Amino acid sequence: MKLILLIIIVYLAYRAVKSWVMRNLQAPGQNDSRHPRIDDVMVQDPVCGIYFPRREGVELRHGGQTFVFCSTACRDRFLEKPKG
Ligand SMILES: [Zn+2]
Repeated sequence: MKLILLIIIVYLAYRAVKSWVMRNLQAPGQNDSRHPRIDDVMVQDPVCGIYFPRREGVELRHGGQTFVFCSTACRDRFLEKPKG
């Protein structure tokens, strides 16, 4: 029983030292928090008002702006009835 406890303690110490070494080995300034995940953003359809993932939408550049619609039908409706 005592031997098992000793093994566990040694193992935990080994893991702690290993993770500490790994952290020091990694170059500072490597910030991997900059993943461009624009595709996963939820956008609202300006025509029907529902929310959907942008990557599944239909994009339209119109008047210098980019609109995203849930379907081509909504895009066509938007083009038929311009705002104003
Ligand atoms: Zn729509």
